Amino acid sequence: MKCGRKTPNFPRDKKTQNVSLKPLEHSKGFFMHSTITIIGGGLTGLTLAYQLKKARIDFLLLEARPRLGGRIFTKMSGNHIPIDLGAAWFWDYNPRVKKLLEELQIPAFPQKFGTDVWYQGRPNADFQQIQIPEQQQTSYRIKGGTTNLILSLAAKLDHNQVHLETQVLKISYRYSKYTIQTNNGFFDTDLVINTLPPALNSQLEYDPELPQDYIDIAVNTHTWMQDSIKFGLGFKTAFWEQLNLPVTAFSNFAIASEIYDYSNINGDRFAIMGFLNSHFSQLDKVTRKQKVLEQLSSFLGKNVLDHVSYEECAWIDEPFTKTTSQNQLQPHQNNGDSKLRSSFNNDTLIMAGSETSSVLSGYMEGAVNSAMETFDRIQK
Ligand SMILES: Cc1cc2nc3c(=O)[nH]c(=O)nc-3n(C[C@H](O)[C@H](O)[C@H](O)COP(=O)(O)OP(=O)(O)OC[C@H]3O[C@@H](n4cnc5c(N)ncnc54)[C@H](O)[C@@H]3O)c2cc1C
Repeated sequence: MKCGRKTPNFPRDKKTQNVSLKPLEHSKGFFMHSTITIIGGGLTGLTLAYQLKKARIDFLLLEARPRLGGRIFTKMSGNHIPIDLGAAWFWDYNPRVKKLLEELQIPAFPQKFGTDVWYQGRPNADFQQIQIPEQQQTSYRIKGGTTNLILSLAAKLDHNQVHLETQVLKISYRYSKYTIQTNNGFFDTDLVINTLPPALNSQLEYDPELPQDYIDIAVNTHTWMQDSIKFGLGFKTAFWEQLNLPVTAFSNFAIASEIYDYSNINGDRFAIMGFLNSHFSQLDKVTRKQKVLEQLSSFLGKNVLDHVSYEECAWIDEPFTKTTSQNQLQPHQNNGDSKLRSSFNNDTLIMAGSETSSVLSGYMEGAVNSAMETFDRIQK
């Protein structure tokens, strides 16, 4: 099962209530033109689209999934409890993200963490309460979930500038023009900004082909967090607060390796969110859920079983994020290498995206930085 649903702030079909992001006249075999085409509707693509919109520069954005956000995905779980199953936190050393949130007037708040945490030191051992030092850097969350940033950016665009369920298959360059072939028609354009994680470029066809030295590094560039599985549980109450129990927990052995209190900013929606050990990716969702509940019950008690929702996203199963060729790569391998920011065909095909960023590559800050630097390149 894929993580995600349609992006909800564009016109809806009156009968089905499905969101329609494609222009009404758009159909297979159709040719559309724009000066600039952005490939990928993650944080990089959308931040760039927002800058182009403000500068009144003509563009279209093509996104393969039926939703925007890429590795940012908030599930509105149970009784509208926002659970971030992709990116969750930013930090004080993320000036570009902070500025963007300020500009879009999106509030943020600190992650509850605490110095009393649960820890499992050996396989099958009981979780023990231990004390750890205060976090050196506060981790901040976005009100309403990280997708709030994505939807706020999308809301600044015209709905016919964004094409969902439009997977780019081939990019051809002839006589100073591009033809982009997708599963959903053809697009011609003067300038292509490609924001896909670099490794995914091995799945696109380029004519003329990209230089081999670029491909060699792109396929060996780790896509940050592509192997992770996140889970979330929604509750009617923060029973752990009434019982005066910490939620934060760490283990290298149990199914959930990190666990946090993920209740909302207003303190009226309650959740626990965490990361599953990727060794458990072979299990099905039902079995994983059962194991998570067993683990949490062992230190938070049977109240865990009264959850109102269980959510998870195995990014490992997401074809527009994960590439199987990456199984041997180290975390962040080759991230930020200057070759990843290459441009081709006289600067008319520009490679962007978080992993290409010169700062904090792989993170949201890297994505926003890449978008802003690409916008500067376009203006020059
Ligand atoms: C589980 C998880 C937890 C994370 N936690 C954090 C965190 O706490 N803090 C933090 O700063 N960062 C975190 N990150 C990283 C952060 O999510 C990314 O750095 C950022 O979202 C990358 O944005 P991007 O636009 O560069 O790439 P992506 O989000 O990967 O966007 C690329 C887009 O291209 C689309 N696409 C792919 N192939 C095609 C194609 N052929 N045609 C058209 N479109 C295509 C994809 O669907 C996607 O929407 C996390 C990531 C994950 C997965």
